[in-house]
Amino acid sequence: MYLYSLVATHTTEHWKMSPRTSPAFDNSYARLPGRFYTRQQPVPVSAPGLIRVNHALAAQLGFDAGFLETEAGVELIAGNLMPEGADPIATVYAGHQFGGWNPQLGDGRAILIGEIIDNNGLRHDIQLKGSGRTPYSRGGDGRAPLGPVLREYIVSEAMAVLGVPTSRALAAATTGEMVMREDRLPGAILTRVAQSHIRIGSLQFFAAKKDTKALAVLADHVIQRHFPQAAQVDHPVRAMLDGVIARQADLIAQWQSLGFIHGVMNTDNMLLSGETIDYGPCAFMDEYDPATVFSSIDQGGRYAYRNQPHIAHWNLSMLAQALLPLLADDPDKALASGQAAIDAYPDLFQAAYQRRMHEKLGLSNETGEAQLVQDLLELMQQEKTDFTLTFRRLSDLVAPRTAADNDIGSVFELPDSFTPWLQRWRKELLKSPQDESARQAAMDAVNPVYIARNHLVAEAIDAAIIQQNFEPFHRLVDILLQPFKFKHEHGRYATPPLPEQIVRQTFCGT
Ligand code: AMP
Ligand code: MG
Repeated sequence: MYLYSLVATHTTEHWKMSPRTSPAFDNSYARLPGRFYTRQQPVPVSAPGLIRVNHALAAQLGFDAGFLETEAGVELIAGNLMPEGADPIATVYAGHQFGGWNPQLGDGRAILIGEIIDNNGLRHDIQLKGSGRTPYSRGGDGRAPLGPVLREYIVSEAMAVLGVPTSRALAAATTGEMVMREDRLPGAILTRVAQSHIRIGSLQFFAAKKDTKALAVLADHVIQRHFPQAAQVDHPVRAMLDGVIARQADLIAQWQSLGFIHGVMNTDNMLLSGETIDYGPCAFMDEYDPATVFSSIDQGGRYAYRNQPHIAHWNLSMLAQALLPLLADDPDKALASGQAAIDAYPDLFQAAYQRRMHEKLGLSNETGEAQLVQDLLELMQQEKTDFTLTFRRLSDLVAPRTAADNDIGSVFELPDSFTPWLQRWRKELLKSPQDESARQAAMDAVNPVYIARNHLVAEAIDAAIIQQNFEPFHRLVDILLQPFKFKHEHGRYATPPLPEQIVRQTFCGT
């Protein structure tokens, strides 16, 4: 048990609370050289209100969820109070946004309040997003509207339970203040958790300034923090680069296998830890169309579903470029090393993608033929079938359901045109004999019934904004926390939108 002492952000006075369990802070990024960040307190808000605390995550991190729900706890997640041991900073980075270079970005509406070590000894950043202006706000107000905060909470937690590496949502609070966008919107703050918030753009910032010393310090920090094995080999920076590339290849393969569209894959939105970050205009696809793009600002379709693997490759080559001064003393050798690292990506991605798609079809990787996946996707595109439900229906078809209500047949059927493909698929299944129900269980575990469908997310956000009714938000989050088991009473949450419910565009939180 620790004494939970809070510091008021506007007075730096210590607030003595009754004894509470609290994780210990250890702020390694704030110990890096001063040019990596600016010390910055969150800007207090007038009337913080609790939206939700993530109890499971709080427990994992060593926070007392009950405390976070008290008045003082809400002051904390709204940025009006700092926990003892916090050392709030706004970090600096750069990045390629939609392909264009921006030498100066940074936490413009977020504050890293510190790092905590969880019950398993893992380090996590605790960040407040929407916490007011910083030196990197570039004319922005540093605030976040309620809608994007709810979207990020819903989608990031849905991704986490699907097993996708991702930043997490520990809590969300309203600010009691309005933010000006096209409309006046209620403001909110998200408490975001990630293994770190170090981006490709963080390294790019120092590379572009030719500050090789800082670049080396940051690379070393990333190695210690995310790739400790790389410190043991002859070329640690190259090993780190290989590690980031491997994690990203697997991450993007996971996105593809779930029909997830990130929407704003700028180099400042790709973490070196390999976690998904920045749930701005993101969305899951309903009917399968590889050209799908949701982001309102992505006019050219740069970040469309089918482009994501290539964009990741491009972003990683920007990372390799930034690391060149550290890869070898001799520029030619450095270039060769960086090139070799990024040339490994296409095969790494393909292997990860193939493995995940075969898993979804219940096929072993050795026997499954790649063409079967391609042909299925073509059929899905032609017939405009729902991405998620098509795969889940295949799960139904491999074995009779023991629990009858776990079969999605009542809400979704495959068109007859799938019959020839299904015959080919069944033949493939015979090549890797397996107990039917074991195969079904394995397929169920990678073919969710419930995803964060855009129209459901929009419905939850609208109810919160228009009617101040957060019930649809809570209900959606709760349902998405159990994505792999169909329940008839939640059939509405499994089904694609009706034509009038389709949401075609999503908007960034800016
Ligand atoms: P994003 O598109 O969310 O990745 O943000 C790109 C950059 O814009 C980041 O440096 C953000 O910190 C900054 N930014 C986005 N929204 C705001 C805002 N409302 N106020 C200040 N900075 C912002
Ligand atoms: Mg961003």
